[in-house]
Amino acid sequence: MYPKLGSADPVNPSICFHIIKPGCICMTNPSYIDSYYHDTIVGHRSLLPLSGGVEVDVCIIGGGLAGLTAARELQRFGKSVCVLEAKRVGWGASGRNGGFVSDGYAEGTLALEKKLGFEHSKALFDLSCEGTRYVRRTIEQLNAPKVPIQEGWLRVLRHDDGDGLKRSVERLVEAYGASYGFWETERVRETLLSERYFQGMDDPGAFHIHPLNYALALADDISVKGGLVVEDCAAQTFQREGAGWRIETAQDVDVKAGQILLCGSAYMEKLYPKLERSILPVATYVVTSHVMPDKIESAIRYRGCIGDTRRAGDYYRLVDDGQRLLWGGRITTRRSEPAQLADMLKKDIQAIYPQLGEFKIERAWAGLMGYCVHKMPIMREMEPGIWAATAAGGHGLNVTATLGMVAAEAMAGMGKSYKLFEPFEADWGGGPIGQLGTQVAYWGMQAMDWWDEVRS
Ligand SMILES: Cc1cc2nc3c(=O)[nH]c(=O)nc-3n(C[C@H](O)[C@H](O)[C@H](O)COP(=O)(O)OP(=O)(O)OC[C@H]3O[C@@H](n4cnc5c(N)ncnc54)[C@H](O)[C@@H]3O)c2cc1C
Repeated sequence: MYPKLGSADPVNPSICFHIIKPGCICMTNPSYIDSYYHDTIVGHRSLLPLSGGVEVDVCIIGGGLAGLTAARELQRFGKSVCVLEAKRVGWGASGRNGGFVSDGYAEGTLALEKKLGFEHSKALFDLSCEGTRYVRRTIEQLNAPKVPIQEGWLRVLRHDDGDGLKRSVERLVEAYGASYGFWETERVRETLLSERYFQGMDDPGAFHIHPLNYALALADDISVKGGLVVEDCAAQTFQREGAGWRIETAQDVDVKAGQILLCGSAYMEKLYPKLERSILPVATYVVTSHVMPDKIESAIRYRGCIGDTRRAGDYYRLVDDGQRLLWGGRITTRRSEPAQLADMLKKDIQAIYPQLGEFKIERAWAGLMGYCVHKMPIMREMEPGIWAATAAGGHGLNVTATLGMVAAEAMAGMGKSYKLFEPFEADWGGGPIGQLGTQVAYWGMQAMDWWDEVRS
């Protein structure tokens, strides 16, 4: 008989014996990758030994933003939770990304409308907006340390599109209630001093954050409320036991749970092939510059998120009070990090802003996004008692919040919003052939982007 982690009496140590006190984050010592986010992480937590077994209502596999949000929301529905994280909280895409939080999904809103019709696509869009609001609200509620919110997102074209972008903006404002605004080329170039940019749209509802510190704030909140967040503890197998499931891990920890929620995204391997085979890991890269306020002032006069609208565009923002540039870009299906990553992205930056001249890249890192062929997340019950809320792709900061809310509501039997995601099945992603196909599709997208620019 395992000790039960109850939600009714979350901080009573008597409900757990030789393992861990409920209400704590338990970890040994796998480290984060070197990144700007790791350099600026909030304070360290204590290390606690961990072994034994625990029984909970829901075991969540994956301590990224999807898993953590779901755990927190399940607690709100009175469920006891255990989050198993193979490495560290936010170690995956959640602690490595650009930090942009905005409405929508990896698949475009108007593309979804074409596939599903207006009503369905509007309902999905509204859910994604709830995800954006959730992140803002949670940061404020938790008074999350070192997660400053910086407002706005300016998306610019790298080719002259006449009034094409303007028409899309008008449609999204009218039909979807989006608060986007259209910018003429002149205004864009006064703000971003680059000849490479043309028209733009701004989204005042979007903002950027420090995603790793946000993940840590969520984990702390879960543990304060009596949940378990166990780091360095990969789930290895699970099987039915009675009415629930028994999960075995790489450490000396067993979990019994009524239900399981899979949130491992591109980092999940050999645990649940039915899901993994539908998720293509796609890598993208980020660098940060050294402190260079004068150079930045000569090029970038916008403090919010900045990105271009190419099919696989650049995304960047200023950090440390506008003194440092954080720049992301490129996608590839290659898992290994290119040797010249820093130089490669520096050249991309200099091609847009030659006035920056020589500067130093202090950190360069890669991360994996989980993509399905339909570019939408998987949010469904895979079989009785096994749910998946994962594969948010490159648009995950709001979508993981949406998934967390929707999954918790569904697993607690309190709502059916997950049905909106039914058309997006866990289809086979094609394995290595699918990866090759994605890479070829990316080269195709690059070629189309290049052609659009050349024509301008
Ligand atoms: C470089 C980069 C830039 C990005 N920029 C943005 C952006 O600016 N805005 C935006 O909206 N989105 C962005 N994204 C996408 C966004 O970061 C992701 O969609 C989102 O963080 C995914 O969160 P997740 O919780 O689903 O997965 P992840 O954060 O990848 O977490 C999955 C976790 O599961 C764990 N895990 C896997 N298998 C197991 C197991 N068997 N047992 C236990 N744990 C396991 C992993 O260790 C990992 O920590 C970016 C992504 C990358 C890589």
